[in-house]
Amino acid sequence: MPRFQTTDPGYRNKHGQTVIARTGFPSESFPGQTIYHLRCGHCGHDYGSNGSDIHKRRCPATRMGPKGNPSAIRLRIFSLRKASKTCGIL
Ligand SMILES: [Zn+2]
Repeated sequence: MPRFQTTDPGYRNKHGQTVIARTGFPSESFPGQTIYHLRCGHCGHDYGSNGSDIHKRRCPATRMGPKGNPSAIRLRIFSLRKASKTCGIL
C-alpha cells in the first residue's frame, strides 16, 4: 500500500485537511519552507500552510469551535450587536 507523504497532493491529515497543491511560494514565517494549498474537508475552506505544518493543520475557519458552525455563530453575534447598537440609538 503506497504511503502519502504529508506534502503530496491528495494527502489528508487527521483533521480532514487535504493537500491540493504545492504553491511554490516561500513561507514568510519559516525560511526554507514552501506554502501548500490546503482545503478543509468539512467546510471547503481553502488556505495556505507551511509544508511542515500539514500533518497537524486544522481549518482556520472552523478551529474556533469543536462543533456547530462557528462562522454562522459569529455572524449571528455580529448581527445581534448591530441590532442592539441600532436599538441604543433609537
Ligand atoms: Zn473548515
